[in-house]
Amino acid sequence: MTVPRGSSYIWVTWITGLLAADKQCEWSAWFRAHFSGFEKMPTDFNLAAWKAAHGEMVRARAAALKAEGYTVFVEDQNKFTLKGQAATLGGVPDLVAARGGEGLVIDCKSGKQRGSDSFQVLTYMRVLPLTHPACRGVPLAGEIQYRDASVRIAPSQLTDELKRLIRGTIERVGGDAPAVKVPSLSECRFCEITAADCPERGDEEQSRAPVEHDLF
Ligand code: SF4
Repeated sequence: MTVPRGSSYIWVTWITGLLAADKQCEWSAWFRAHFSGFEKMPTDFNLAAWKAAHGEMVRARAAALKAEGYTVFVEDQNKFTLKGQAATLGGVPDLVAARGGEGLVIDCKSGKQRGSDSFQVLTYMRVLPLTHPACRGVPLAGEIQYRDASVRIAPSQLTDELKRLIRGTIERVGGDAPAVKVPSLSECRFCEITAADCPERGDEEQSRAPVEHDLF
């Protein structure tokens, strides 16, 4: 049953597609920020297989970092709940590593590379200095660990402009006013919100139907 939250709550991955401009429908994140318990679209996503593959990647990267002399913190050790005026922001960075007065936050991705991945890590780089003792007052870099590649994010990539973008997105998604709804086949097909809560949900059959015309 769809019930309003007492106050808005945002999971980091709800906004990373918006930050990357891979997604346009802010309402999807706004709705999840303001309501819980809603019916979700059925999915064939194999959560158990994903957890097993992801867990193996996290363990392997953690072992490699320890071998390099890092102090390593894993998943729940990095969990944060950052309460702000616009919303509470939650997340669980896979790995935090500290060595010689420098920090590194790592997210492991067992799937294909997405533009939102770097925004997820950059958001962690923004938050962790406030929530994680190992990240306080030290230069914090980021890393996205894929199966066959690794992408580094320098501390300087968290620019003031990006900080403003993160803040503005959280304020819109966490705010009282409903955010912009942008129904489209490409987004609606991957959205967990059903037509019961989003009547504008893109109709896949209708969207795929050819349009007849006399232009040529
Ligand atoms: S179903 Fe489509 S329009 Fe509705 S919230 Fe999801 S992405 Fe937005």
